[in-house]
Amino acid sequence: MRTDQNYDVIVVGGGHAGCEAASAAARLGCSVLLVTQNPSALARMSCNPAIGGLAKGHLVREMDALGGLMGRVTDRSAIQSRMLNRSKGPAVWSPRAQCDRRRYTEVMTAMIAATPGLEMAAGEAVRLILDGDRAAGIVTRAGEEYRGRRVILAGGTFWNGLIHIGEWSRPAGRIHEEPAVGLSDHLAALGLRRLRLKTGTPPRLDGRTIDFSRTDRQDSDPEPVWFSHPPPEERLPQVPCWLTSTNACTHEILRGGLDRSPLYTGRIQGIGPRYCPSIEDKIVRFTDKERHQLFLEPEGLDTDEYYINGFATSLPEDVQIAALRTVPGLEQVVVNRPGYAVEYDMFPADQLRPSLECRALEHLYLAGQVNGTSGYEEAAAQGFMAGVNAARSLHGRDPVVLGRNQAYIGVLMDDLITKVPEEPYRMFTSRAEFRLLLRQDNARQRLLDVAREIALQPDAEIQAVEASLQRQAQIRQVLERERVRVEDQCLPLAKYLRRPEVSLQGEAAYNLVSAELQTLVRWDPEAAFQAELEIKYDGYLTRQEANVEALRRLEALKLPESFDYARLKALSAEARQVLQQRKPATLGQASRIPGVRASDVTIIMVHLRRG
Ligand SMILES: Cc1cc2nc3c(=O)[nH]c(=O)nc-3n(C[C@H](O)[C@H](O)[C@H](O)COP(=O)(O)OP(=O)(O)OC[C@H]3O[C@@H](n4cnc5c(N)ncnc54)[C@H](O)[C@@H]3O)c2cc1C
Repeated sequence: MRTDQNYDVIVVGGGHAGCEAASAAARLGCSVLLVTQNPSALARMSCNPAIGGLAKGHLVREMDALGGLMGRVTDRSAIQSRMLNRSKGPAVWSPRAQCDRRRYTEVMTAMIAATPGLEMAAGEAVRLILDGDRAAGIVTRAGEEYRGRRVILAGGTFWNGLIHIGEWSRPAGRIHEEPAVGLSDHLAALGLRRLRLKTGTPPRLDGRTIDFSRTDRQDSDPEPVWFSHPPPEERLPQVPCWLTSTNACTHEILRGGLDRSPLYTGRIQGIGPRYCPSIEDKIVRFTDKERHQLFLEPEGLDTDEYYINGFATSLPEDVQIAALRTVPGLEQVVVNRPGYAVEYDMFPADQLRPSLECRALEHLYLAGQVNGTSGYEEAAAQGFMAGVNAARSLHGRDPVVLGRNQAYIGVLMDDLITKVPEEPYRMFTSRAEFRLLLRQDNARQRLLDVAREIALQPDAEIQAVEASLQRQAQIRQVLERERVRVEDQCLPLAKYLRRPEVSLQGEAAYNLVSAELQTLVRWDPEAAFQAELEIKYDGYLTRQEANVEALRRLEALKLPESFDYARLKALSAEARQVLQQRKPATLGQASRIPGVRASDVTIIMVHLRRG
């Protein structure tokens, strides 16, 4: 057994969370070891090879603004990119990219390999090395011992992973990949609470056997939609996705297989995501729906494989094939790989501090799907924050904790540590109270101060954002000043822009404004867009700002971990119990824990004021 291997930070798991964590900590000057079962599978996309989409696109833009990798990797492997929800308000516009699955892993691997201070080792961590109640390293199944001053665990769906297809089950983290066994039991034996969750994936199809003429085509947006700044100079060739749907015949076959379904025969114990049901779940829950839409999405440029979005299933393989062959375009389809469900262990994140450090075991951080989330973006965002905060703790600096008023990442982390998950947690725009402020288009500008604090962005990028903010202010002044002639009336431009159908980027309005403003809009369309939105939504934004202020006041009231809630008899019994268990960091956080009432918050506030 070697014992000379000492690192600042050890990251276990080379998935989306682990890669971001390892990269962030190394770029912040730490010596980092990334230990993962299969180094050829870095940031492998277990399910759909797509990044972004509603609310998830916001997370990626925010990570990019702070110096994360996901946006850059996505832009270099995207084969179809679109801005979703353009027909709705800009608060819910969201970028999404279909990626080349193989290339995504290759680009991430190249970035990890090029990071100074970051080493990789193949192996499976089975337990922690402890120094009292502090994590001090890991031991692998092969008996290799690595010591680290901080340890980040990002094991995804692999901990005691068990996959199911019909009546067949097998221990696995993903299909054809070994589970990670030992570490989860070790953490549970150390007293951490764990739960069992479940997720699922659709079959993969041979595109040469699909009749695309019987489906509807969906193309990329004509203009590239980028996640990263600055974006790459070119995008990869763009390819279409195809739309089709199930029908009564499909549903009948699926229903006929329910008595062999692991979901409906009770073999799956883990809780799955309600918002992302399997196809068998859909036909059972929505009996009145005659069809369910399906998207045929290419897996890459150099493969004929297609992912069938909307058809996640763990029914027996013969039922999957028979049902698929009733779908228009899939009459002759060959299934390369069946859909399956996976059950895995997770550790509720209410056991963590807002920095993602474990309260019971210091120097140990947990990130990604093991904290009860689902999705690459949610995992990557946590990994990034865990990597940053582990490095900051080594440098003797306070953790960076984003607020709900600052970022979707803040909403995600706050929800995780204040609520016990009832199902895998996925980000939605509806989870963000301040979504008009937290838009995908303004991520760089609104997170500028945090990016300065984290210090992962190059100076040039910080200066570019500062300059863009100056131009935005300049454009706003011109917008407030100008008047335009519309329908024989001379209107302030700002008033005209408040009409929902009018946009400065649209030809009609653009042609009405002064040459000075046209030049500014052409020079920096992004700054012009943001200045215009500020004017359009002035009233709403001001109201949200007022609510943000109220939240800020609650967040400013810090609650020490030593606070003894049991002694505060005026609190309701339920509040006393959950607060004593969760130890929220601020009064704001305390107020969002289920079971804590407004009256409990007032009691704590009065107590704090009394000193
Ligand atoms: C079948 C399936 C279906 C899914 N469906 C969806 C979906 O529809 N929508 C969605 O948003 N998300 C879906 N996901 C989830 C998505 O894949 C995850 O959210 C995301 O990959 C989590 O990232 P992560 O970094 O936390 O973990 P992962 O990407 O799972 O990576 C974990 C990594 O850690 C390694 N590892 C684990 N334990 C150890 C150990 N002890 N020692 C060393 N290495 C270890 C693993 O080998 C793996 O490389 C699905 C996942 C699966 C498996």
